Amino acid sequence: QEYKQLSNTAPPKLRIVAKTPSFITASYARANNVRKTLIQATITVPDEYPQSPPIINVDLKLKGLKKKLESAMTQESMQLKGQYGQIIAAFRCLVHFIDTNKFLPCWRELKDCTDMVQNLNEKNQHSSNNKNTNNKSTVSCNELTGKIRLKLCHNRYYYSCSIQIHDAYPSTTTIAEWGKACVLKMVGTNLPPKIENMMSTQAQDLVRKMQDGMSYDDAFNASNPIREPKDFRKHAAKEVTVRLTQEKLKSLKQDTETLKVVGNLRHVDGDSVSWNAKVKAHGAKERKDARRNIKKITDSEIAKDLAAEEKDKQWQIDEKSRLAGYDISAFDGSNPQPSLKALVRFLIDRIWRLPEEKCPVCTTLVLPANPDELLTLYKSSSSDCKTEKEKKERKRAKQKRPIRPICGCWYHYSCLDKFMREPPFGASCLSCKARVYHPDWSDNMQTLEREWANKQARLREIEDVKMFL
Ligand SMILES: [Zn+2]
Ligand SMILES: [Zn+2]
Repeated sequence: QEYKQLSNTAPPKLRIVAKTPSFITASYARANNVRKTLIQATITVPDEYPQSPPIINVDLKLKGLKKKLESAMTQESMQLKGQYGQIIAAFRCLVHFIDTNKFLPCWRELKDCTDMVQNLNEKNQHSSNNKNTNNKSTVSCNELTGKIRLKLCHNRYYYSCSIQIHDAYPSTTTIAEWGKACVLKMVGTNLPPKIENMMSTQAQDLVRKMQDGMSYDDAFNASNPIREPKDFRKHAAKEVTVRLTQEKLKSLKQDTETLKVVGNLRHVDGDSVSWNAKVKAHGAKERKDARRNIKKITDSEIAKDLAAEEKDKQWQIDEKSRLAGYDISAFDGSNPQPSLKALVRFLIDRIWRLPEEKCPVCTTLVLPANPDELLTLYKSSSSDCKTEKEKKERKRAKQKRPIRPICGCWYHYSCLDKFMREPPFGASCLSCKARVYHPDWSDNMQTLEREWANKQARLREIEDVKMFL
């Protein structure tokens, strides 16, 4: 009778999978995201029911969530202890939980995120040894609204934000909401607006690209606000081919050694005794061995060359497909990637870590220890510089500002300027080995070389004039 009542009064989406007098299994999923919120539960009905309570088992791999749900359902059914209706109450509880808990589709990710933030605090405590509670990174979640509050603190810098999880996470329901599977909103920070804006924008773009279907790494690269200039990779590839590597030197050395051995063997075969051209210097057997060895060595060399050529061909094919770029049509959003953990990882890697980032050129911290000092570097804009002195000061401030080229490492503006304008031109980043590019400087080696040569010439001229005077 209770089963019958259950199928009459239950919400329409509660699907009864199986029922026998001793157990009943049912599943339920939230409306707009079937796959991620489908949960199945089995209730075993003892012979003495309703005097002894039903046994509830939720079919879930996530242990924390399973335990939470099972205890909630048991608690609900316990209120009708000894009466009929306990099974209905338990299933109602399941439906209510699925309908109202916004974090259901990202439960595991959220757990990982809170762990990551927890780790930050432990790391911080070890390094700085201060137990200042104000300096702790925190994360708090509201299951009913689906909102996460995140505060990242590191040294004296902080960045706090909210992340709103969409009902249809990891996707969205309407096209207008596309890219908003999680919405990042900055709440407060003492980073300069220019840096904050750049990072927050990239973070939201990352979420969007992952909803399109990209992996974290692809989405991260594609969301870089600095675009590669035309032919950027071609230049880099060309550089690789002319570079004399350790390996090339080795193979050259081996080539000359092989030639020497072959030459010696030829001598064994061909040498004649100096006083009689018709008499060979070496015996017939020795000469035969020498001839065989020449063939053996040259054959193995030819095989080696062929293998190397084959490898080179394969590399060219790979390179071509790499240069062709991403096949954008593959990322049409039909396979949205979960983006919450990626978003938090980005915020930690790129924003939380900023105060410990070191400039690859001068190896000192890129951000000043005092956040106010950093803010003053951004204070004056070009429009409110009236006197010469103000202009000069602004220029000096700009030199100290942090700047991020395409590789993602942070430099001091003046350090990067020196790095870009002085030879070797087109060098790779001292920290991550990727090629450095920033739109403030030309990516054309010839231009940079010419500029440098002009500057050197000017300096020489000044020296000459000094000498003359
Ligand atoms: Zn520097
Ligand atoms: Zn770098």
